[in-house]
Amino acid sequence: MSKDIQLYQVSENDLEKCLKCSICNAYCPVSGVTLKFPGPKWAGPDGERHRLKDETCFDEKTMKMCLNCKRCEIVCPQGVKVGDIIQSARIKYSLQGIGIREFMLANTDLVGTLATHSFGLANHVVNMGLTKWMLHKMVGIHQGRTFPAYASHTFEAWYRREAAKGQQSFDRKVAYFHGCYVNYNFPELGKHLVRVLNAMGYGVSLIKGEQCCGLPAIANGMSEKARANGRHNIAAMERALRDAECIVTTSSSCTFTMRSEYESLLRLDNSSVAESINLATKFIYQQLKSGAAQLRFKPDFKLRVAYHSACHMERLGWTIYSIELLKMIPGLELVKLESRCCGIGGTYGFKKENYDVSQSIGAPLFKQIGEVDPDVVVTDCETCKWQIEMSTPYRVMNPISIINDAILD
Ligand code: SF4
Ligand code: SF4
Repeated sequence: MSKDIQLYQVSENDLEKCLKCSICNAYCPVSGVTLKFPGPKWAGPDGERHRLKDETCFDEKTMKMCLNCKRCEIVCPQGVKVGDIIQSARIKYSLQGIGIREFMLANTDLVGTLATHSFGLANHVVNMGLTKWMLHKMVGIHQGRTFPAYASHTFEAWYRREAAKGQQSFDRKVAYFHGCYVNYNFPELGKHLVRVLNAMGYGVSLIKGEQCCGLPAIANGMSEKARANGRHNIAAMERALRDAECIVTTSSSCTFTMRSEYESLLRLDNSSVAESINLATKFIYQQLKSGAAQLRFKPDFKLRVAYHSACHMERLGWTIYSIELLKMIPGLELVKLESRCCGIGGTYGFKKENYDVSQSIGAPLFKQIGEVDPDVVVTDCETCKWQIEMSTPYRVMNPISIINDAILD
């Protein structure tokens, strides 16, 4: 057996356990809206048997239609890691080079740094009709897609300037993996987390030198870059954990990537940190529920929210924590939306060839949100937020921002 086959041996993803029930096909959001994708059973265990015999049995175009939501893995009664089989095959067999589009979408740190230093110019230019048309025609990013706005300063800069000193006075500390979205697009969410955790008696440190979790690089065929980021982040988190009780995050996708895909797709040993990586909602819920910390809520807070569970939240099995935490807020009326993929799939829905599929997948969710007609939609995933805000008239917030609004000073 060659070294490569050992490295990606499919038995690690439980290929042999597939009993051909096709339940995964019924739950795949992509095969639900287009006949062009034959479904997870074919792309996963069935196709892998062929690929193991003959590597040329890899159909690039078809395999790229999987948006890596992992819903097939959630429903598989045999525990077959169908999504991992598909993504591992893409890492191993794809011959497609990296174009400018993939480079742009994968290098969130670089693009974010340039955009936040552009004094608002990037936000203006990227949403101009001519720019959108050029990106569509020349780069392959669909012109219907709205780009998330970039902030005028990074979260890290704010933290160093406004928050770092005050964290020293806390005995209990957690380390925050803020991710690219908070750092470059929406520092407010990071500020909200610091305020909420401080109110609970926790100091917040940053993970020195953290880099993008690597998810956009995995999705855009740059697995070596993802591995390099992963190795770097694991070492940085190990150092941070010397002074912190755990790592907290505000992005379900970053969390899932670092806890699960570092090992399952990138073959990195993340065992020293994986169990210490917590989504903030899980951490806060557990602290409040156990009585280890308290929050004082405003007595007159009123809000009607609809909670959307992101695919990677479902795969983590952690939706319950965000739901139960939101239920602790007096005056908050909660409607849990049906568990459905919104269609964005990280950077998937940005691509010209995926745009229609992406919007068709999200359509039932957008319709349900309209029927519920909440004050705001709540989700733990930033790319779901982009998709829902682009496709409905509703504002979307992270649960941490809701708590920030609901607590007393
Ligand atoms: S749900 Fe699991 S067992 Fe059933 S066909 Fe899909 S991979 Fe095989
Ligand atoms: S990961 Fe999602 S899109 Fe991909 S095959 Fe599984 S269910 Fe379908």
